[in-house]
Amino acid sequence: MAGKPLFDKIALIGIGLIGSSLARVIKRDGLARTLVACAPSQRTRDTVIRLGIADSVTDDPAVAADGADLVVICSPMGTYEEIARRIGPKLKKGAIVSDVGSVKRSAIASIGPHLPEGVQFVPGHPLAGTEHSGPEAGFATMFEGRWTVLTPPAGTDPQAVDRVAELWRHTGSRVETMDADHHDHVLAITSHVPHLIAYTIVGTAVDLEEHTKAEVIKFAASGFRDFTRIAASDPIMWRDIFLNNRDAVLEMMGRLYEDLAVLQRAIRMGDGETMVRLFTRTREIRRGVVLAGQHIAPEPPDEGGKE
Ligand code: NAP
Repeated sequence: MAGKPLFDKIALIGIGLIGSSLARVIKRDGLARTLVACAPSQRTRDTVIRLGIADSVTDDPAVAADGADLVVICSPMGTYEEIARRIGPKLKKGAIVSDVGSVKRSAIASIGPHLPEGVQFVPGHPLAGTEHSGPEAGFATMFEGRWTVLTPPAGTDPQAVDRVAELWRHTGSRVETMDADHHDHVLAITSHVPHLIAYTIVGTAVDLEEHTKAEVIKFAASGFRDFTRIAASDPIMWRDIFLNNRDAVLEMMGRLYEDLAVLQRAIRMGDGETMVRLFTRTREIRRGVVLAGQHIAPEPPDEGGKE
């Protein structure tokens, strides 16, 4: 489905699950004349060449960004500041820098100050992913039917925002623009706190005595099984998310504790009415999620997403 390239040179700094999925779309649709990928490990660079999802690879972000029209940072958020510091001096006038990081206020704080005059910054976050990592885990349909949120700081050239939005629309994603703070609050409750609960509940279960541990795995019913999938998500990425979205996550956890206490009391007091009221309301929410088409997790078209 190759068409007219949207950009001459695109550089992807980091090419794991998300970066490689984007790379597959860029290659599939011919969205760049040249696609350069950057990863520190030789193993990842070899894999990228073997999969044919970039034209060249480097371990140096400055080399990748040199002369690029679009640079998308797709690495763990803890690496952002160092990457921005290294690419800053190599960015050409008119270049656009974007990212895919899961927390936007800190992405702006880490990258923004290192970008020279004349470079446009369009932070982004595709609301898609799986619990897997690395370039072999990516797949071109990852973003289909999902949302990508762009959070351009005030003063960003709207044309640059449009060009990044156009790239994401090619992935099959719907695009929305919002303020970074708003994004971080919404994601704290819809994504970050649910992951925290999954990590906690699975951790609590495996902390039980040895025989119970075996029973937990053996009898993993759907609720617990779903938690184990979420709790298998990449530890470094999630560490970075909690370190970078501290205030919003703590605020949402405070609300959650209050609501849990209401349920705890209802259970203690035998107050079934309170439970049914809440569970009926949440059932309605699920219907809304299904109607919005957001109930099916992205899945590779073939086993494991390997190409
Ligand atoms: P991933 O599969 O672990 O890939 C990370 C990539 O970054 C790898 O290619 C890694 O290279 C590279 N990298 C690590 N340190 C680097 C550095 N200092 N300079 C350049 N590249 C570096 O991770 P991912 O799941 O794609 O996540 C990447 C970003 O996407 C994160 O910021 C995350 O917040 C965001 N995100 C993730 C999801 C999700 O569900 N996973 C969803 C939306 C957004 P090596 O392999 O050589 O180490």
